[in-house]
Amino acid sequence: MIAISTNRTEYRNDIAEEIRLFLSLAEIALLEEIDPASAERIFDLRLISDGTRYTAFAKAGELLETEAFDLPECASARTIKKLEKRALKLACYHLLKRLYPDVSTPWGSLTGIRPTKLFREIAQAGENEAQRMFRDVFDVSPEKTDLAARICAVQEPFIRSVQSNEIDIYIGIPFCKTKCLYCSFPSEVLGKQDRLTQYLISLQLDIAAGARLVRENGFRVRSFYMGGGTPTVLSASQLDEILSFVLKQYGGFGDEATVEAGRPDTIDREKLLVLKRLGIDRISINPQTMNDETLRRVGRSHTAEDIVRVYELAREIGFHSINMDLIAGLPGESAEDMQRSCDAILRLKPDNLTVHSLAIKRSSSLKKELYEHTLASAAQAEEMIKIGAGCAEQMGMNPYYMYRQKYMSGNLENVGYALPGKECVYNIDMMEEIASILSHGAGTMTKRVFGGENRIERLPSPKDVPTYLDKLDRLIADKSAFFR
Ligand code: SF4
Repeated sequence: MIAISTNRTEYRNDIAEEIRLFLSLAEIALLEEIDPASAERIFDLRLISDGTRYTAFAKAGELLETEAFDLPECASARTIKKLEKRALKLACYHLLKRLYPDVSTPWGSLTGIRPTKLFREIAQAGENEAQRMFRDVFDVSPEKTDLAARICAVQEPFIRSVQSNEIDIYIGIPFCKTKCLYCSFPSEVLGKQDRLTQYLISLQLDIAAGARLVRENGFRVRSFYMGGGTPTVLSASQLDEILSFVLKQYGGFGDEATVEAGRPDTIDREKLLVLKRLGIDRISINPQTMNDETLRRVGRSHTAEDIVRVYELAREIGFHSINMDLIAGLPGESAEDMQRSCDAILRLKPDNLTVHSLAIKRSSSLKKELYEHTLASAAQAEEMIKIGAGCAEQMGMNPYYMYRQKYMSGNLENVGYALPGKECVYNIDMMEEIASILSHGAGTMTKRVFGGENRIERLPSPKDVPTYLDKLDRLIADKSAFFR
């Protein structure tokens, strides 16, 4: 157990995130909440201020680090909070760097999901300033600083194009054929059809209310995305019915329509033809790896050959854009395995490639059986994502969006690459939080972006299907009030 002692308990989670960069699987608690004798290490974080100058102290045993800042004139409460948090996190980070010098932190002290959003915010004072802050203040490596800058440059026209009345529509299908070893998403393994049928009926009520809300508030649909779970667990007729319903209610999908087909064991010609006929122009076929042994190990009931077969079928039917996902560092995989997967992807030539770093999520089976698996070291994970990046570059793609998650191998990142002109608008909007998102279904997040105020509000829907079905009336009313 790692203990935090601090005079600013409101920042406990921020401090804990910093500690997790170095001790990713540690249990972390406030000292006063545990038996002090059970703490194998205590981090003491203090923030002291004389009203204008703030100093953060981070101490562990004999080691001490400090970080100070002067309060800018007329600083808002929000700015003060941001600077306080930053000082505490930086003091903690420098202390941790001294304690654990061998831990790789390519993103330096940054713990947030969206480094590119931070880069863009700072770049309002000039791109050089963003580069300087990333490298010199947050200790981000030159390679990652460059990656953030490149992604921001690609995103620029998409960000400029967003109108204040535009909204993205998301639909979640939280059902899967089997559960993947590394997954923490609360999707249900598809059992009896009853539950799915009930879910689709409720989803239609949710969609109809959303379309009404969009009309009444004068929104314009910018993009549509159906994700999961695995949307293609639906039969061809179920896909037809739900997507036709969306079209009828919303009057269209906006400028882009994606369905995350996901796993090849749920895709067939009939379903792809339905998607194509209804105007879905972008799909994902996600191998994660092209090695059969790993696919079996992570609980996916298909082979690499199935992926190739389904991909070729989708190409023949003629989708505008096909994305494929790979995960670097899957249990038992080496750099050679990653290279083999990339060689197979190179032969297929998708339009988008998303390279994820394995994250050991708390509620995944992988976390529970961690010691039964061989996992890549930080250096190996980094080598693997470089192989993925090289593969995307060989296909002529640019990195166009990225995000980070907790508990990622080597403190790395997930990067989406796209051929020029094949970038996914929804992915950019969602990760950079530049447009509101109206979501339907269990385990989804509705977001309202107040562009002019740099403010975002979130409204989650219940994570599990039974609660979603039970609370739908309330959720519909809350969404209506949320956008009013
Ligand atoms: S297909 Fe995706 S959502 Fe479903 S279990 Fe696997 S990782 Fe989780």
